[in-house]
Amino acid sequence: MIVIGSGMGGLTTAALLSDLGRKVCVLEQHYTAGGFTHSYERAGYEWDVGVHYIGEVGAPTRTRKMFDYLSGGDLQWAPMDAEYDRFYVGDKVFNAIAGREEFRDNLVRQFPDEEKAIDRYLALLERCGDALSAFGMSRGMSPLLRLAVRPWTAWKLRGPYRRRTYEVLSELTDNPDLIATLCGQWGDMGLPPKRSPFLAHAMIARHYLYGGYYPVGGSWRIADTIIPKIQAAGGEVFTYARVERILVEDGAVAGVEMQDGHRIDCDCVISSAGVVNTFERLLPDAAGDYYRQRMEKVQPSSAHLGVYVGLKGTAEELGLPRTNFWIYPSNDYDAALDDFLENPEAPFPVVYISFPSAKDPDYENRHPGTATIEIVAPAPYAWFEKWRDETWGKRGEDYEAMKAALGERLMEYLYDKLPQLRGKVDYFEVSTPLSTNWFGGYQYGELYGLEHSPERLRQGWLRPRTRIRGLWLTGQDTLTCGVTGAMMSGLITTMSMEGPRRMAPLLRRIYA
Ligand SMILES: Cc1cc2nc3c(=O)[nH]c(=O)nc-3n(C[C@H](O)[C@H](O)[C@H](O)COP(=O)(O)OP(=O)(O)OC[C@H]3O[C@@H](n4cnc5c(N)ncnc54)[C@H](O)[C@@H]3O)c2cc1C
Repeated sequence: MIVIGSGMGGLTTAALLSDLGRKVCVLEQHYTAGGFTHSYERAGYEWDVGVHYIGEVGAPTRTRKMFDYLSGGDLQWAPMDAEYDRFYVGDKVFNAIAGREEFRDNLVRQFPDEEKAIDRYLALLERCGDALSAFGMSRGMSPLLRLAVRPWTAWKLRGPYRRRTYEVLSELTDNPDLIATLCGQWGDMGLPPKRSPFLAHAMIARHYLYGGYYPVGGSWRIADTIIPKIQAAGGEVFTYARVERILVEDGAVAGVEMQDGHRIDCDCVISSAGVVNTFERLLPDAAGDYYRQRMEKVQPSSAHLGVYVGLKGTAEELGLPRTNFWIYPSNDYDAALDDFLENPEAPFPVVYISFPSAKDPDYENRHPGTATIEIVAPAPYAWFEKWRDETWGKRGEDYEAMKAALGERLMEYLYDKLPQLRGKVDYFEVSTPLSTNWFGGYQYGELYGLEHSPERLRQGWLRPRTRIRGLWLTGQDTLTCGVTGAMMSGLITTMSMEGPRRMAPLLRRIYA
């Protein structure tokens, strides 16, 4: 079996199939495994590219058990501060505190007149667990079973879940600051409240309700601890291995063609490279027509800028928190995004700042006397498109100048919140949507694969099983974004492929 891509979706699928006795070959185009969970080193510093915090791993939840199973218990988690997210909204500051009751009481302290609305909101989040399970399970079912349980799925997904987040929240409260605080993590799934479905909002809010955790040793430890499971069954993960085409003969998968032109024969291919890649790039012929027509209903998610900062001095010496900062120009997140898309000189609609070396108790052992910071902000792919065919590192002076100017702008957001860092920065570099394209293979530099719009949730074809015999999908596009979303997509893909009888003993081992 071949898995295209070694992100969390691909590795989870490969590891579970390996446990069921399959020999799996994972082909990864990048120089390192892990997809968005990989880390990179430069100038003596180390940064993560797509993991800042993960929820639901501080107790033996389904998420934690799955991570433990995949990593053989070798992946450890460090809790962030109780204040895991801080929201700077215009000139006001709000925050989220770990633990359901603590979260509630803290919100009530910040919004004393809104106690009822806060309780109703938390009740909605609780009920949403069922809706999320129904959504996930329906993705994994065979077409016949899906049809049979459609009334059940529709019933579970009734009510607020497919409505827009803002619509649902504005029925609970008319306090714009409370709505802004509840939506302060919109960047975690890429759409502000007037554009996102409540289901996606609730998925994120529930995920972090009991706090944020960081993988001890850095995010690269995620792939590092999962790959041995694949190797133990005789499989392997190959890097610098770019698949150019999925080969289809007589309606069935026949193998893949690599970038260097050689062919690997195989009757089962699982693509975790995202649906845009899979159907626009890897299956350009008639075999992908059905999917390309449907893709008109979905959009790539927004692209982003990243600033990777290295400092002399430890996180403790520099006073770096284990709290993420979210910086917003005002409490109207949608209007701020509209302004920015219209006028690039307008304030960034959201700037996210994370302090990985402060979160990682092992960082000091690997990189003594130093600290790191990561800044993320949205940026349209179109700004960079003219350089798309240029090689990484050789895109010319005007590209470098644009990057530098954007980086300087974003650094000012950091200095504004932590002025003690001015003059302490030893190194920083900026990534653009073209970096996401180059290193992650995302054609439009998209941050989270497909945009999490209400329309996307209605697309039943976004599921593991495809119409092409032997071709399966996994990863964030088949379920939801996030490391946990991609991991659970791997479980659902494996279940779809192997069926309940073979899965039952494996599920018992995972969830024992
Ligand atoms: C800036 C940023 C911050 C984030 N922060 C968090 C966070 O704090 N917490 C969280 O839970 N989630 C976070 N996420 C989201 C999370 O990282 C992703 O949703 C998740 O890792 C996606 O996993 P995946 O396996 O679906 O895709 P990916 O990790 O993208 O894996 C797909 C893989 O396929 C490979 N590939 C593509 N085309 C080919 C080809 N032709 N041949 C071979 N290989 C190919 C790619 O190189 C890539 O390795 C963040 C994402 C970003 C971008």
